[in-house]
Amino acid sequence: MVDYHSADRYFRQTKELYGNTCYVQEKKLNIVMEDGSPGPKSLLAFHEQISDCLKCALGKKRDKFVFGVGDPNANLLLIGEAPGAKEDEVGEPFVGRAGKMLDKMLSAIDRSREKDVYICNVLKCRPPDNRDPLPSEVEQCESYLHMQIQLIQPKLIVALGRVAGKTLLGLDTALKDMRNITHEYAGTPLRVTYHPAALLRNSNFKPAAWEDFKWINTFLEKK
Ligand code: SF4
Repeated sequence: MVDYHSADRYFRQTKELYGNTCYVQEKKLNIVMEDGSPGPKSLLAFHEQISDCLKCALGKKRDKFVFGVGDPNANLLLIGEAPGAKEDEVGEPFVGRAGKMLDKMLSAIDRSREKDVYICNVLKCRPPDNRDPLPSEVEQCESYLHMQIQLIQPKLIVALGRVAGKTLLGLDTALKDMRNITHEYAGTPLRVTYHPAALLRNSNFKPAAWEDFKWINTFLEKK
């Protein structure tokens, strides 16, 4: 089943950009699944394919499935760990105050969630009480993230926060030990920076986060 909220948002964004002429640009992709069957042809098709997922217990408890939002051809892919309460309610990642903080940081490097950025989470459904994702949930859900990466083909992945970083990298370490290193995830360079909610909790982190975003911008400009 299509998440009509996201589809509607996509078409509204397209209308704002291009008026009543609707351009749907898709990369020519020929993804083949492990069993030899053809993979999804676009991000929208993949969204439609998995939005009823009940592979782990979180599926039954969700309000909204949170697939992701942004430019399907983005060079920059931002990944958080899982939807929170507001995201579960709205069906979009990084909304509310933390989302606004993220939008500000993106705007400072002349990007936005509509312009060369795609935002999603490792898990597509909300864990109860905003607890960290369980390894079993990540194991069930991570193949969806891998497919999103194949479809988007970003030049850089940025994990937002320690939990996203440690989940993607399989490292149980402090954020400071993951920052300022170019790691790799699913064949794509990956950096780790602060979760925007951490910047709201402690503004002392902002200068370092700004350094990370400047690095991101310089990296992408060179690509
Ligand atoms: S969290 Fe992932 S694996 Fe679990 S039900 Fe949601 S989409 Fe499916």
